Amino acid sequence: MVDSAALRARLAGIRERIARAADRAGRDPASVRLVAVSKTFSPELIRIAADAGQTDFGENKIQEALEKMAATSDLALRWHHIGHLQSNKAKKAVGFSTLHGVDSTDLLRRIDQAAHAAGQHPSVLIQVDLAQEPTKFGAQPIDVPAILGTAAGCLSASVQGLMTLPPAVDDPEEARPYFRRLRALRDEWLSLGIAPSMLGDMSMGMSHDFEVAIEEGATLVRVGSAIFGDRHYP
Ligand SMILES: *Cc1c(COP(=O)(O)O)cnc(C)c1O
Repeated sequence: MVDSAALRARLAGIRERIARAADRAGRDPASVRLVAVSKTFSPELIRIAADAGQTDFGENKIQEALEKMAATSDLALRWHHIGHLQSNKAKKAVGFSTLHGVDSTDLLRRIDQAAHAAGQHPSVLIQVDLAQEPTKFGAQPIDVPAILGTAAGCLSASVQGLMTLPPAVDDPEEARPYFRRLRALRDEWLSLGIAPSMLGDMSMGMSHDFEVAIEEGATLVRVGSAIFGDRHYP
């Protein structure tokens, strides 16, 4: 049994906290978009959230996402691919509205070519590795300007910003320096003359640290368990 009232209440609570964090930072709450991370959760729960006004959903597995897109194709939803994207999956990924995990020139080119062939126009965020952990994906900061250079020549994919995933920490305050670092890099790249349109979005912050991320400038927060509950992996 799905408790739809509880899900609606959690979603409303997250929206409220987003608005308060934006206020604290002197930002317009409308400048922060909530991506509800629905990985492992059913299309039934996605429908309940959509009915409560949620339009953006995030998934990290292509096949699982394609099944949910098909199951909810009567709804006008925006789908975000939020994890690492393998280059051999580029073709299947171009139906997402935004790809958050692009971390190389090669992958960006493949996505652009696949998108062009399919007549799709995905938005792309460049994932920047600030955690320096062996298990994390993402481009090294030093390589990002070259990736953004390639982005200027894309035909169908459009790079619109950056994404980062800090190390898993218990205290959200420990994530703050990573969010701040991404913003500082963004400012540095802007000062190098990179087009502001390519650096407009910052995807950062999850269930336990989205408020800190918003205080540091996040425009997209990726929140899963705080909306849908604990995930159970098969
Ligand atoms: C799963 C996931 C999230 C959501 O995590 P929660 O802690 O459930 O909010 C956000 N971003 C990425 C990249 C993820 O894989």
